[in-house]
Amino acid sequence: MKVAGDWLEHRGTRALLAALESAGYRALFVGGCVRNAVLGLPVADTDLATDALPETVSNIAENTGFRAVPTGIEHGTVTVLADGRAHEVTTFRRDVETDGRRAVVAFSTHIEEDAARRDFTMNALYADALGNVLDPLGGLSDTLARRVRFVGEAEARIREDYLRILRFFRFHACYGDPTLGLDAEGLAACAAFSAGLETISRERIGAEMRKLLGARDPSPAVAAMAASGVLAQVLPGADHRALAPLVHLEASAPPRWLRRLVVLGGQAVDTALRLSRPETRDLAALVAAVSGMDSPAALGWRLGADLGTDAVLARAAVLGGPPSADWQAEVSRGAAAVLPVTAADLMPGLEGAALGARLKALEARWLASGLRLTRDDLLKS
Ligand code: ATP
Ligand code: MG
Repeated sequence: MKVAGDWLEHRGTRALLAALESAGYRALFVGGCVRNAVLGLPVADTDLATDALPETVSNIAENTGFRAVPTGIEHGTVTVLADGRAHEVTTFRRDVETDGRRAVVAFSTHIEEDAARRDFTMNALYADALGNVLDPLGGLSDTLARRVRFVGEAEARIREDYLRILRFFRFHACYGDPTLGLDAEGLAACAAFSAGLETISRERIGAEMRKLLGARDPSPAVAAMAASGVLAQVLPGADHRALAPLVHLEASAPPRWLRRLVVLGGQAVDTALRLSRPETRDLAALVAAVSGMDSPAALGWRLGADLGTDAVLARAAVLGGPPSADWQAEVSRGAAAVLPVTAADLMPGLEGAALGARLKALEARWLASGLRLTRDDLLKS
């Protein structure tokens, strides 16, 4: 099999591969770029694998006129900036020691060893500079069938790194065949070792959950997480049942992971996933909106177009009823609307707390009118 695409033709990429090869080393595309090209999906980043040692990679890159940044030197990764594109170049590795969280690695000159320490067969594909796919573990047929399977024995691979539990569900959500169930051996191993996720940092868990919930339809994967006890482990108190209805209601709205997170609910989600401050604020606003009574227009006004859309869809999914037919136009109208009275309109007659209370009351009247009362209407009242 041969893959093609702009990412393969990029001038800097070609020059970097040629430089490594003419110095006598192997240089191959690996991981996401090959997998996505095989699946006909867009390629986001270019990762390369080589038998050259990191220092050699740096020297060769710099002698070719590129910048080499030692971004993960202890793991053998050098980022090479070539003609405006970043390439993560990682020396072939094998695991020497693992403890469920991090691995001690040794460099290797064998592609088979490098492939064997990767997580899923679809992530253990390589391609040469011409796009010829190299498949040291037989992952190509799994990839073409969109089957997410662990490299080797699922249990053993999970015990090396418990984050792979979440990656199993994430890759199924992003790249799996939705009509196929999850791989039975993988799922059973995830269920058996879900408690191991406790040892994984919340940043890593949060990063995987963001990607998982950003998939076009994460609901089958999340349902499997719930059934296997993994969901309760990462998001205590979460309930997946409104997620499939949400995805259905979203229709062509772009997937937004935070909107999906809202309908899952759960306790202390911000700490569980190490959300940023703005994410925590948006989540709280959405949670309040879902249990509140605001109209789509009022939600658009309060939260803006994007969060307003999230709020309408999430509430409809949780309550189990579709939103009004004109909800999108209403959210947009609200997002563009401006409360027609300001504090200045009420001064100097009112001040301090009384002014604040009056303004709030006028805002409530305006919202209750569907954002239609004018400044005169409100000041006369
Ligand atoms: P995406 O485009 O969705 O990011 P990706 O394949 O690039 O997909 P990454 O998480 O960026 O995913 O990882 C890059 C590659 O590194 C994977 O394809 C896989 O081969 C390997 N890898 C990453 N994390 C692990 C892990 N925890 N265990 C084993 N291999 C891993
Ligand atoms: Mg990646």
